[in-house]
Amino acid sequence: LEQIDALSVKSFPLCMRQLHKALRDNHHLRHGGRMQYGLFLKGIGLTLEQALEFWKKEFIRGKVDADKFDKGYAYSIRHSYGKEGKRTDYTPYSCMKIIMSNPPSQGDYHGCPFRHSDPELLKQKLQSYKIPPSGITQILELVKGMHYQLACQKYFELTHDVDDVGFSLNHPNQYFAESQRQLGG
Ligand code: SF4
Repeated sequence: LEQIDALSVKSFPLCMRQLHKALRDNHHLRHGGRMQYGLFLKGIGLTLEQALEFWKKEFIRGKVDADKFDKGYAYSIRHSYGKEGKRTDYTPYSCMKIIMSNPPSQGDYHGCPFRHSDPELLKQKLQSYKIPPSGITQILELVKGMHYQLACQKYFELTHDVDDVGFSLNHPNQYFAESQRQLGG
């Protein structure tokens, strides 16, 4: 879990960093968040056993006890790993899917912050992440032009200290892989 804390700051795109933080703060995520984040974690290599441990550890710190977790949540995690029901092995969501479908409502933390956050809140968040003011202005311009993935690429450049990412971003797991490559992780 601590390892994921560190990774979430260094190498997660904003959408996943937001979900991780919400999970750590609230010891809970609603269904949309569990799906988006859970499949991302699966994509970065968490095994089913690790995923069960990860979610359980955090959830039982909140209002859910171990028994309730095993009965209520473990099933859907196994399901997303293709171990229950129709045994579909679900793949992590692409940016397009996150941006275009299932917009978050009050109390949700899934979605794409470049698309779904109020620009003022997005600005505050970027400030708190120490993004320089000129970079924030560029990001907000891209958001205004509805270029959400380009805004995310700009965020990548600013947080990895590169001038040009050299790829076209279309998937949160791609963001993670590129980040790890750049950081030599
Ligand atoms: Fe996540 Fe994609 Fe949005 Fe970036 S553009 S925050 S990777 S959904």
